[in-house]
Amino acid sequence: MGYVKGLKCRECSREYPVAPVYVCEFCFGPLEAVYDYKNIKKVLTRRAIEKREKNLWRYRELLPVDGEPQVGLNSGFTPLLKAYNLARELGVKELYIKDDTVAHPTLSFKDRVVAVALTKAKEFGFDTVACASTGNLAHSVSAHGAKAGFKRFIFIPASLEASKILASLVYEPNLIAVDGNYDEVNRLCSEIANKYHWAFVNINIRPFYAEGSKTHGFEIIEQLGWKAPDNIVIPCASGSLLTKIWKSFKEFKQIGLLKELHTRVFAAQATGCSPITTAIKQGMDVIRPVKPDTIAKSLAIGNPADGYYATQVVAEAGGAGDDASDPEIIDAMKLLARTEGVFAETAGGVTLAVARKLIESGKIGRDETTVICVTGNGLKTQEALTGHTVSPHYIKPSLASFEEALYKIKGG
Ligand SMILES: *Cc1c(COP(=O)(O)O)cnc(C)c1O
Repeated sequence: MGYVKGLKCRECSREYPVAPVYVCEFCFGPLEAVYDYKNIKKVLTRRAIEKREKNLWRYRELLPVDGEPQVGLNSGFTPLLKAYNLARELGVKELYIKDDTVAHPTLSFKDRVVAVALTKAKEFGFDTVACASTGNLAHSVSAHGAKAGFKRFIFIPASLEASKILASLVYEPNLIAVDGNYDEVNRLCSEIANKYHWAFVNINIRPFYAEGSKTHGFEIIEQLGWKAPDNIVIPCASGSLLTKIWKSFKEFKQIGLLKELHTRVFAAQATGCSPITTAIKQGMDVIRPVKPDTIAKSLAIGNPADGYYATQVVAEAGGAGDDASDPEIIDAMKLLARTEGVFAETAGGVTLAVARKLIESGKIGRDETTVICVTGNGLKTQEALTGHTVSPHYIKPSLASFEEALYKIKGG
């Protein structure tokens, strides 16, 4: 048995039994999993965790499942890279990249949420899983759903990167490409979810799905030697990842795995879709929806479901928010590759570009410890870099031709 006591409305605190439900019947607030921390504290010690396999289920008592994990046994425990070169370039003392571009079967942090969502969907007895996606979720549900034997309906905006569409299609889901943006896809999916008895991972399974994001935060604390960083910079689409990383830090504090927590939480968005960071900059908690227009398609949610809660976390943790333009995103993707050998997708470019601004403006101290969350692999969004990289040196298959090129490379 698991340690979830039930679901609870984030607004009015009304409680609900564990079921595939996601909004409060009374005030329409979102529901969230509630845990029995007292008993978790007795079993989930540092020693117990350290003995377990290096995947995201090593924190399973703090995840909302009852039985054995069914999905994602090969996901998570991604590297926390100490970024010496990048730190030197940005002029800070201690910088880390939490690198979710690797150690996930579909190469993004979405394998965390999908592992929990599909395990829960099995527990609830669903035979079909579905999602509304900005790209990475489509890829992840298609793959993990195939392995777990689900029928799959995947809804995406038709304008998604061709490489992301292909990466989903290879698993042969029912891929529905909607002539509309993500927010329109999501609205359609809410209607479909009301009519069909499917597990929509980010709609009716959302309270369980979202908890999977906490594992990104748990790992950071464990990998820093059971310490929290001074600053963390997190990319926002719906805002869920940001709120759940904060929840993960607070939970570790609550059950005694973390002694002190003074982390400032920073939100990063693309300028072409920045409803959350705009609200933060203006000191408002009302999110004004936007029509996304950015190369960072995986973050392109104009009406973010958890936007309000993300602004609350940033305020509570004493952080800030900022946005990055498309050219700044591309520059940052190249900077990360050139300094740390990490090829991140556009979302990683957003996070690094924003981190850089926060350092330059003094909001992030140069003597502090900062973690930058890099959430997806660049091989999935190669189009974004087309025309923005250096060219190969084209030669004939002869030594003479090579040496001619070498002469030019050496600046002759
Ligand atoms: C989905 C996603 C995020 C964050 O999503 P939230 O909806 O804010 O939880 C961040 N990075 C990438 C690459 C994503 O695909």
